[in-house]
Amino acid sequence: MKLRDVPGPKAKAIIARDKEVITPAVGRVADFVMSHGKGAEVWDVDGNRYVDLIAGIAVNSTGHSHPKVVKAIQEQAEKFLHISADYYHEVWVRLAERLTSIAPFEEPAMVFLANSGAESVEAALKVAKHYTKRKFFIAFLSAFHGRTMGALAFTASKSHYRANYYPWMPGVIHVPYPDAYRPILISKPGEDYGETVVRYIEEQVLGKLVPPDEVAGIIVEPIQGEGGYVVPPDGFFPALRKLCDKYGILLIDDEVQAGMGRTGKWWAIEHWGVEPDIVCTAKGIASGIPMGGIIGRKHIMETWPPGAHGNTYGGNPIASVAALTTIDLIEQEYMQNAAEVGAYTLQALEKLAERHPNIGQVRGKGLMLGIDFVRDRETREYYPEFRDKVVDYAFRLGALMMGCGKSTLRLAPPLSITKDLMDEGLEILEEAIRLTERDLA
Ligand SMILES: *Cc1c(COP(=O)(O)O)cnc(C)c1O
Repeated sequence: MKLRDVPGPKAKAIIARDKEVITPAVGRVADFVMSHGKGAEVWDVDGNRYVDLIAGIAVNSTGHSHPKVVKAIQEQAEKFLHISADYYHEVWVRLAERLTSIAPFEEPAMVFLANSGAESVEAALKVAKHYTKRKFFIAFLSAFHGRTMGALAFTASKSHYRANYYPWMPGVIHVPYPDAYRPILISKPGEDYGETVVRYIEEQVLGKLVPPDEVAGIIVEPIQGEGGYVVPPDGFFPALRKLCDKYGILLIDDEVQAGMGRTGKWWAIEHWGVEPDIVCTAKGIASGIPMGGIIGRKHIMETWPPGAHGNTYGGNPIASVAALTTIDLIEQEYMQNAAEVGAYTLQALEKLAERHPNIGQVRGKGLMLGIDFVRDRETREYYPEFRDKVVDYAFRLGALMMGCGKSTLRLAPPLSITKDLMDEGLEILEEAIRLTERDLA
């Protein structure tokens, strides 16, 4: 395996132009300048090929430019590109019907469509406030829910996301996420750490900070994404649902990263058999065309009166046909593939961990997989330099991957990835780990 001299000359030239006209606020993880992609492979402008193990952060669920998605977009583009959410059109309705049919709850559902994850979170917050007439929300430390001024109040994965933006939306209380690998609360005997967190919410937040009948909702990622691909213990969601039911608090499930089949089920929360009240979706929904939205229980969504929320592009026809085709492909093939290749990869990562002591834990479901690097397995001390070097070496060896949390590496490839390509990616990952071990020894 050869370390390539990247970025090449063409990439360098484009990066130099980029630096002149695009604000540095847009942070980049690697000097990858894309030319084109196919399935789970991408090429840069200098002709270098990469295995794509991140899929534009869990977005290109059907792989790059899937022919069926491209065809659906082309056919729709011939008819019309936009009409505005003030009128009706059929593909929007069809998509809404499709989304309500896969909602993770028994009750009938209704949807609101937007253009991004943050917008889907904003919609969830607004409908929850409107419906409950309550003012407060509970969110989790290390959560990521987006960067708009409402969603930002909930995002707590890195303080630099918030620097200089105060005041953000008031009334948001953060509690620890149930990270059993690095717990910060003390469990009672026999209690699962997820139950401990829920007990903390009830005793410390609802008991001391804010009366439960003033809390509109609890917003939670079923598996924390940006915060480190943290999977909650099995007791967490059932206990959280019980708490929400006890106090009439809405359970808002942010599936923007974990949803749309990525974990081998339509929604990650289904792994715990718990039904949320509102689901936020975006990233994987339309294979890369910007789209987001919420799917909520009908008795909540139907109380939202005309004009209470809205946008210009909601249900955009191009995004809608892309989403419909994406959903078909996920249902027919890729959700199953995500479960199979995901289980296969997790096993391979467990073996990898046996060979490399700086891997503290591997975790995840389906094709949402995290490798948590530590200085020392005993103390579980974070090792961000190690992770960063692995990402960098992997890039030079021919694979795109990305960090999350303090020292976790995330794998979130297209759901269509084959075992062969995954094997290639895993070989690159191991070589990147070896080179990093050598450097940091
Ligand atoms: C990415 C993400 C968001 C924000 O989505 P944008 O499209 O970037 O606004 C919200 N929630 C979760 C869980 C995410 O991963």
